Amino acid sequence: MKRNFKRYTVTAALPYANGPIHIGHIAGAYIPADIFVRYLRLQGKDVVFVCGSDEHGAAITIQAKKEGISPKEIVDKYHQIIKSAFDGIDMSFDIYHRTSSDLHHETSSAYFKKLYDKGVFIEKESEQYYDETFKQFLADRYIKGTCPKCDYDSAYGDQCENCGSTLSPTELINPVSTLSGATPVIKKTTHWYLPLNNDTEWLLDWINNGKLNNEKLHEPAEWKKNVLGQCNSWLKDGLQPRAITRDLDWGVKVPLANAEGKVLYVWLDAPIGYISATKQWALDNNKDWEPYWKDEDTALYHFIGKDNIVFHTIIFPSLLKAHGDFILPQNVPGNEFMNMEGKKISTSRGWVINIHDYLEQHPTKTDELRYVLTANMPETKDSEFTWKDFQSRINGELVATFGNFVNRVMVLMKKYYSGEVPSININLKINNGETEGNSTDFKAELKTIQDKINRVGESIEKFRYREALSRLIEFASYGNGLLQFNEPWKKIKEDEETVKVIMLAAVNIVAGLAVASQPFLPKTAEKLFKMLSLNSEDFTWGNAAEIIQQKLIAGHQLNEPEILFEKIEDEFVEKEIEKLNQMAQNAAAMGSESKVEIKDEIQYDDFSKMDFRIGTIIEAEKVPKADKLLKLTVDLGFEKRTIVSGIAKFFKAEDVLNKQVMVLVNLAPRKLRGIMSEGMILMAENKDGELKFVSPEGLTDNGSSVS
Ligand SMILES: [Zn+2]
Repeated sequence: MKRNFKRYTVTAALPYANGPIHIGHIAGAYIPADIFVRYLRLQGKDVVFVCGSDEHGAAITIQAKKEGISPKEIVDKYHQIIKSAFDGIDMSFDIYHRTSSDLHHETSSAYFKKLYDKGVFIEKESEQYYDETFKQFLADRYIKGTCPKCDYDSAYGDQCENCGSTLSPTELINPVSTLSGATPVIKKTTHWYLPLNNDTEWLLDWINNGKLNNEKLHEPAEWKKNVLGQCNSWLKDGLQPRAITRDLDWGVKVPLANAEGKVLYVWLDAPIGYISATKQWALDNNKDWEPYWKDEDTALYHFIGKDNIVFHTIIFPSLLKAHGDFILPQNVPGNEFMNMEGKKISTSRGWVINIHDYLEQHPTKTDELRYVLTANMPETKDSEFTWKDFQSRINGELVATFGNFVNRVMVLMKKYYSGEVPSININLKINNGETEGNSTDFKAELKTIQDKINRVGESIEKFRYREALSRLIEFASYGNGLLQFNEPWKKIKEDEETVKVIMLAAVNIVAGLAVASQPFLPKTAEKLFKMLSLNSEDFTWGNAAEIIQQKLIAGHQLNEPEILFEKIEDEFVEKEIEKLNQMAQNAAAMGSESKVEIKDEIQYDDFSKMDFRIGTIIEAEKVPKADKLLKLTVDLGFEKRTIVSGIAKFFKAEDVLNKQVMVLVNLAPRKLRGIMSEGMILMAENKDGELKFVSPEGLTDNGSSVS
């Protein structure tokens, strides 16, 4: 953050309105954005902080089907839940908008039209997966399969949520429709494509050198390594044209005459949601939105989790550049994922702490949650939340260090001076609070306070929030040191004048903590300002010590001390872990019930089309770089076939030799990892997901037919 920008536009990822938000979301995108924005505001910067619900896309229509209500009802329901969770956790958005709003439909539709008229898009007929039962093309989340990059078995058609790779449906191994569970067929459809293949070169230069047309726009050294790494791994193979429309009936309609039944791809319309949110904010506040997106004096920041990195560093910048009027982001500080109690957070498996649940249980502990999520933020790699760590951080850092210092100062001020700031002899020396025997004076103490605040700010500017927070706690420790080394409770009998200097220095530190804790712990900061009888709005980050000196003058009356943080007992932790296990059990029970669903009825003719035979596995080997696949040679009596089977998790190659199995022999051949697979071996799957062979009762001739 070297350049001095005139204004800042900060966006936080638009959450999908298909479910509640959880601690992983908050730690990944929202707390970092909020800390950054609060810090900018404390510096007196002109900032707009926008967010909103992402209410389009297949994730919404699939959830609607699951809950048996309309997509509109789904987005209305979750928009409210998410919005109040954000309010509860003190996200200081200037606007929380919705992509289902008219303003957003107009904005994204006009954006598409402008690019269309400029001839940016390619219109192309292509073959796409289609579900014949539901008579629907299977875009994005309507299709699931094994990720070709990491072998995760529930990757979506547009993205693998395990490794973050962006995918297209045809890359998935063993694709199935999420509507019917059936293997889809291929059908022709027409769509508009963004020719990203033309963008590879300038994106490489822009991302790695910060340059566009030889003009330096940002400092790549300030970008996070995990973000640069993901960009480059995408760019190194060259980009492919990307379809930006979909065959769906929910979303922003494609504004063209020949586009019946087609909507904008949600990843085209969602980031434009940042622009429409800014427009709505400007309308509400009688401002002009355009400088916030078009003026070169504006710095644009996108805060996101790792699953959104490529969309914000590659696709959205390509759309912004193609339009021509917009600035590119200054930085995209994407975070990695947060895990929980040793496992991945999973809503469907009930392994999750939803924000609205937490708020309902612990309405007075919002800063505590913000604190622990920041201290554990997945800044450079995946991190881990545990309730035990929650307890030890709150008890050790917030209660024993921060809260204890503030409480000692406020109680002593009340005891010695009835809470009234004393007048001091500015020439008296006190211990500097860092080392035994080192004395300092009051002026130097104020300078130290400003230095400590600045150190916190430096870390925030580098998006190192864990470091910033530990510097805040160090600042409070320093306050404790000042009391410990100076021992006012001993000196009060013999040297009242020096004690006045010590106590004023200590109150100044409390005021410094009030300023520096605002980005992280907004409610605590508010309480501190109230106890100190100061107005937070009078303070700026860079001049905090100076303003403290002007405000905390002799005769200033402080308010009553308040307890800032309560100790977390073991019982609290036990209850939370118990709750988590209960939720996971409930989810598992529901999951096994729903598996009993039987597929749609078929006719005898459908069945008789399938040719099942008995065969013996005569050769088996692991497919390189695929955790799940074995390459098998099966002797069918009349011929030998190569079949690739996803059973490597359950069987070693040597275990399956000479097994007699049932094979579907007239299944169309498919290439898996470059190997042509000519048939399918039948397996039984138990409720734990383990696979067993379906074999004839006794040895039978290879090639025997099964009916
Ligand atoms: Zn993957």
